[in-house]
Amino acid sequence: MTGEELRQWVTDNGFPAFRAVQIGDWLGKGVTNFDEMRNLPADLKKKLQTSCYISVATIAKKQVSRYDKTVKYLFSFHDGECVEAVLMSYHHGYSICISTQVGCKMGCTFCATGKSGFSRSLTASEMLAQIEAAQRDEGVRISNVVLMGMGEPLDNFDNVVRFLHLAGSQKGLHIGMRHITLSTCGIVPKIYELAQCGLPVNLAVSLHAPNDAIRSQTMPVARVYPMEQLLQACRDYFETTGRRVTFEYALISGVNDSDACARELGHRLRGMNCHVNLIPVNAVAGTGYQKSNVQRQQSFANILAVNGVTATVRRTLGSDIDASCGQLRRKHLSKGGQSLGNFQ
Ligand code: SAH
Ligand code: SF4
Repeated sequence: MTGEELRQWVTDNGFPAFRAVQIGDWLGKGVTNFDEMRNLPADLKKKLQTSCYISVATIAKKQVSRYDKTVKYLFSFHDGECVEAVLMSYHHGYSICISTQVGCKMGCTFCATGKSGFSRSLTASEMLAQIEAAQRDEGVRISNVVLMGMGEPLDNFDNVVRFLHLAGSQKGLHIGMRHITLSTCGIVPKIYELAQCGLPVNLAVSLHAPNDAIRSQTMPVARVYPMEQLLQACRDYFETTGRRVTFEYALISGVNDSDACARELGHRLRGMNCHVNLIPVNAVAGTGYQKSNVQRQQSFANILAVNGVTATVRRTLGSDIDASCGQLRRKHLSKGGQSLGNFQ
């Protein structure tokens, strides 16, 4: 609930409005049940217990990278569904990558999440709960959030927008929109809608190809929303929000990493206010895809630079802990896990 919704609920139920402030303060401290709200009267606690709930993300599994202290979580929710989140430590603070859905409908062929199908969307509070749980577990304050875990955020639009409002609010986590990045596979009408929401989050778009022919081999969404429409929506997003768009490009050996691909991409993006993140693809079992070698990565980046398009080869964190989208849950499910009891 937003602060206003909470106030409404409290007064509708016959309690004075200041109780909403107290409840909000407790939620801001990250309490996980109403009993912990010590300054509330018993009848209000009873009412809360019978008609409300606090979303909790329970740690079902945790892996810490030996190399860089990146932490990968498998969180479970009240119905036993699990999602992944990754906590990363940078010189400027802590950043978390959270999930927006259990699984994904978009079916990208290189993606572990896409390969395990779709269960359900997350609520806004389940997105917040992932951040709260990681902060509590590691005793840190998280300053940056990326919606780049499992799921397609723009396929869960209303809950994601609600999450953004709550994450940015004073009483909530108070994370500014400039510190939040939303990554999408390119659902064009929703990019226009997001631009109109007055929530200037950073937009990352998973491009992964220089044209529709190659893109539709790995990303079925390309058959619905052609690249030219997608790039136009990105230009509009920049004009409306002032936020530069980042393009994600996973380099897959022999699929999208040739010099010709780099030249075509450079031509299409030239003059756009954007940045390209080149990511050596994470080899997911069963896909047959391999990452491009270092020379290929460099050559690709150089050709983009020659075309005036800035690109960086992304540093990969947590490579020893299945820290790529959907890998940990996939392992969990293949071991027969749905309930936590089966988790090894
Ligand atoms: N659904 C959204 C956000 C979640 S995926 C999207 O597709 O953008 C987060 C990022 O991880 C996307 O850029 C996605 O393309 C990328 N990704 C998925 N599987 C990958 C893999 N095996 N190797 C490298 N990047 C991958
Ligand atoms: Fe879904 Fe993103 Fe994975 Fe594609 S890359 S299947 S959109 S999570």
